[in-house]
Amino acid sequence: MIKQFVPSEVCLKCRGCCRFKEIDSVWSPCLLDEEIQDLLDKKIPSAFISLNKKLLPVPNPQGAGFICPFLEVKDNQCKIYEFRPLECQLYPFLISLRSRKVILTLDLNCPYVQEHLKDDEFKIYTDYLAAFLNSSAQVRILKDNPQILQAYEEVSDVIELELPDEPRPS
Ligand code: SF4
Ligand code: SF4
Repeated sequence: MIKQFVPSEVCLKCRGCCRFKEIDSVWSPCLLDEEIQDLLDKKIPSAFISLNKKLLPVPNPQGAGFICPFLEVKDNQCKIYEFRPLECQLYPFLISLRSRKVILTLDLNCPYVQEHLKDDEFKIYTDYLAAFLNSSAQVRILKDNPQILQAYEEVSDVIELELPDEPRPS
């Protein structure tokens, strides 16, 4: 599990994550192949996984739009928190592919990062995250899972990451 920058008690009071405007939202978490297999091994319905290897949102029972099928809306809890996907562990950081560069980016829509961008802890955390993602094991995971390299728009660049050979979106 990746260390978190945003404290969990902050996220539990926030409605910023795990909710989507469209069923095919680019923000719905992308899954590694091994995460898909792990979910299926745990008897998670395959209908929760889209053909393009993302979690497939379901209609929000409390209003407009869609939610992750693993979000418990009444208390804002993730039902698979202990084994949630890499992309969920990373957020509000995202791995972006742009002009054949792999870049650690940040979604400034997260109110917590907006408030803490200039803190020493932010620099310490991004150094930790970049070192983690640049480890040979993680670079290999990115190489084996090109679906995870997405062209997210309206995100802020943090640092360029190691480039797996031949990255290409699925
Ligand atoms: S937007 Fe930021 S603070 Fe809100 S739930 Fe997501 S990560 Fe947590
Ligand atoms: S798996 Fe959990 S953390 Fe990830 S989007 Fe779904 S509810 Fe949120």
